[in-house]
Amino acid sequence: MHTSTDEARVYKSTEEPATADIEAKLKEERRALLSDISAARAPDREGRSDPDERLEALEEHQRRQLVLTRRLSELDEALARIADGAYGTCDSCAAPISVERLMALPTTPWCVACAAAGSSLVVN
Ligand SMILES: [Zn+2]
Repeated sequence: MHTSTDEARVYKSTEEPATADIEAKLKEERRALLSDISAARAPDREGRSDPDERLEALEEHQRRQLVLTRRLSELDEALARIADGAYGTCDSCAAPISVERLMALPTTPWCVACAAAGSSLVVN
């Protein structure tokens, strides 16, 4: 087997080593998330006689799936930014995002200032 050049072309030689670490972490989390999503099954209809309880379990399941799929799209977006070289640059003001911030919040597309300014507007 020889090294895939397609794979190697994604990485730029000038890239900070931290980005490669973060990318590996993101991919790892994405893999775990995908298996979580596929493992999570809708609650069993049988075995719960109380309709309220059944509804609650279903809502809980849907909430959880929503959280997981939302996180998955965050990871996908961050990985896409890494691939096109936009990673580490604020999506809003184009300022560089500090490595410390990226290490703590690897999927964030914003610098500290924009995140603080936008946090009141962005509804999570
Ligand atoms: Zn910014």
